[in-house]
Amino acid sequence: MKIISLHPKLSFFRNTAGEMPVVETRRATSLQNNMDTNATQAIQIAHLGVHYRVQEALRDVNCTVKPGRLTGIFGPNGAGKSTLVKAMLGLVPCSGMVHYQGKPLTQQLEKIAYVPQRSQIDWTYPATVWDVVMMGRVKKTGWLRQFSVVSRQVAKSAIERVGMSQYQNRPIGELSGGQQQRVFLARALAQEAEIFCFDEPFVGIDQKTQAVIFEVFHELTAAGKIVLVVNHDLGASITHFDDLILLNRELIATGSRKQVLTEENLSRAYGGKVMFWTEAA
Ligand code: ADP
Ligand code: MG
Repeated sequence: MKIISLHPKLSFFRNTAGEMPVVETRRATSLQNNMDTNATQAIQIAHLGVHYRVQEALRDVNCTVKPGRLTGIFGPNGAGKSTLVKAMLGLVPCSGMVHYQGKPLTQQLEKIAYVPQRSQIDWTYPATVWDVVMMGRVKKTGWLRQFSVVSRQVAKSAIERVGMSQYQNRPIGELSGGQQQRVFLARALAQEAEIFCFDEPFVGIDQKTQAVIFEVFHELTAAGKIVLVVNHDLGASITHFDDLILLNRELIATGSRKQVLTEENLSRAYGGKVMFWTEAA
């Protein structure tokens, strides 16, 4: 079911099971750009499992997502990539634990900006670029209150950052796929979150938009944010990622890109022989 709503707690979509999405904002975190990050600053996932009725989508997933590292969730179609993100955000029921800074992540959803897969957004909804990005400010400003000068400035800067200023008054349905993805990136930026989750942001977009999105991701990680991106492309763009979580209904491997990208791990995840990008030693 696709739903888009102006109410902040019903932002833009429901997942296919009909659970309510919750999104939005808050707080800056210190810059931590190495593997020795204090463990509580990372998102810690332990024994996470998800069942959709009779089907087991994920089993016993254990991993961490660190600040300051661009982290990719990779795996074949149906591997449970989107499910992992939704479970972390409490959008689908799960077993196990997802903690951030020593507390359940679901109790801190205001620190998260989430951009779902394109297919879960109703692009016919009559909202302009400006409307969509300002929705990212609702939690900060208070619903039905006038948006503050600060919020307007933050939204304006976010729209500028993704190169969409000239389209500010355009309905989102009239934009190209790449432009739409930039608008949702701007909305995430306007939330001033600590944790950013994007599900397949590179599907159906142009090269220029892909470059802009990676630039913004790198800026966010350089500022110590947590940036988690579902992707499936094993091409050259994989070198943008610092850490990987490789899934196929269970965790195949996790760690730095080089640790994870082995032929053995990839064939366990994707089955058979896999063509993938190899970096010069
Ligand atoms: P991915 O994002 O890696 O392609 P998903 O997380 O979307 O995979 O799906 C994992 C598995 O769970 C798939 O087999 C999919 O069909 C199933 N699934 C996903 N969402 C639902 C749902 N709402 N109800 C039932 N099954 C689902
Ligand atoms: Mg998916």
